[in-house]
Amino acid sequence: MKSRLATSLASGLAAGALAIGLLSPPEAAASRPAKPTASRLQATSNLVVPLTIHVATTNRAPVVSQRRMRESIARANAELRHFGIELEIRAVEPLREGYSRVTGADHRLALAELAHRDGSVHVFWVERVALDAQDEQNTRVSGIHWRYFGLRKRTRQREYVVVAHDAPLTTLVHELGHAFGLGHRRAASNLMCSCQRSANPGFTARQGRLMRVGARRFLVRSNQPRPRTDATRYARR
Ligand SMILES: [Zn+2]
Repeated sequence: MKSRLATSLASGLAAGALAIGLLSPPEAAASRPAKPTASRLQATSNLVVPLTIHVATTNRAPVVSQRRMRESIARANAELRHFGIELEIRAVEPLREGYSRVTGADHRLALAELAHRDGSVHVFWVERVALDAQDEQNTRVSGIHWRYFGLRKRTRQREYVVVAHDAPLTTLVHELGHAFGLGHRRAASNLMCSCQRSANPGFTARQGRLMRVGARRFLVRSNQPRPRTDATRYARR
């Protein structure tokens, strides 16, 4: 049975998604690709990428507000829709206590093992993120994207993103850019800059094309497991 917290988070975000839809400018809505009919993978239709949101809790309360999550998701959708990619929230689930600090590889693996293989990108909102537990202060970041290659059924063929509760609103879409195959860029005006990004950063048309290819590949491989050599890859910030 779903807990009250889960229901409250899910309904809050769904209501937010509705409000975001209503706030879209009419011209933007008109220029969006037609709703897919036969296949979501057709080149002309929107690629709908499901997200499962996991929210860390402390003292039975989520570590991040619904508003913050909703704004981050809205920002990501506003950027991705230019390239025919649409994020769809499949589920919002609170994590039990003990996952609010993700400060090293062990913590990332613990989170990864909580994610079902359901074809969605798993996003974990937590209190604090650092790359290295031994040097938390100097390796603190706003978010991380990672994935596993290999034979472990519990972790492979998924995309994982972790976002800190106080991360900028652009962190989620930056990490999703990695999930869809993008590397870092130097320009502060680019969403893929691993830096203090400028006021209104965006993606280039080329990045958009690459992400569309990456998103399509994700949708295909999340349904067709193809094991590769054992390795962990993750991108920073
Ligand atoms: Zn990055």
